[in-house]
Amino acid sequence: MSNNANDLTPLLENIETEARKSIGRGKVADYIPALARVPRDRFGMAVCAVDGTEFVTGDADSCFSIQSISKVFTLELALKMVGSAALWKRVGREPSGNAFNSLVQLESEQGLPRNPFINAGALVVTDAITARTVSPVLALLGSVRRYAARQDIYIDEEVARSEAEHGHRNAAIAHLLKAQGNLNAKVEDVLSVYYRQCAIAMSCRDVARAFLPLAAGGRQPRTGEKLMTPLRAKRINSLLLTCGLYDGVGNFAFRVGIPAKSGVGGGIAAVIPGKYAICVWSPELDELGNSLAGTRALELFARKTRLSIF
Ligand code: GLN
Repeated sequence: MSNNANDLTPLLENIETEARKSIGRGKVADYIPALARVPRDRFGMAVCAVDGTEFVTGDADSCFSIQSISKVFTLELALKMVGSAALWKRVGREPSGNAFNSLVQLESEQGLPRNPFINAGALVVTDAITARTVSPVLALLGSVRRYAARQDIYIDEEVARSEAEHGHRNAAIAHLLKAQGNLNAKVEDVLSVYYRQCAIAMSCRDVARAFLPLAAGGRQPRTGEKLMTPLRAKRINSLLLTCGLYDGVGNFAFRVGIPAKSGVGGGIAAVIPGKYAICVWSPELDELGNSLAGTRALELFARKTRLSIF
């Protein structure tokens, strides 16, 4: 961390103070009981720059459940494993305008999920990986570890079990997909991989580092490794912008103007291409399932730095 004019630490501390004022107005994700136990007053934020510098505030090094943020990692892995032509035949690239766990649209659109970030689309993406390898979870964990340049990233099995015990809606979606011919592996296998991918535990610093290749044209500046093509990075960023926050995506683009992906663990990962990858975490959610203080923090960051993609 540098002590120069580009040091973002005072700014982040200021944003934390401001954003914390939203804490107390939201609701933690209690439909996954293990998540409801996380203290609601946590707040962390990490900003990683493409030149390798990092700035953090609050609980930036505490691990949280990344939940739907994992869908970005599975999408990238599935694209690598099965190729884009095959994958995009099975899942769309349009915003859904519906809740992330809705069944209605899937039924009326004959089993073609709108995008890879709603649960139906994510289950199809996870299926593509599950049907392709004998150890999908290890493949995914290996890939996330490479992205984050950290070898001890783990799965919180208690969170995975807790979601599996209460995952009737996801099970319903998976069965519907199977009935509609858009799931190849066994429903139970896909769900088991899906719950475990969602239960990956990472800190804000880990997530921001793992998203850095999306800000740096596919390269991980920390290791120099080329992880995806610049075109793929651009395309994933465009999906973050249009589909990353479910039915809250329009309002988020209006308020923040930065491509991002949220998870019901309270994390939001965001990408400013050519500049920064950011992760903010605070467990209380708004009614659409996006972190309340996290959204506020990103709004303040965009406003105060005058950075957005617009
Ligand atoms: N595991 C969660 C679920 O399937 C992920 C949802 C989310 O983070 N939005 O409901």
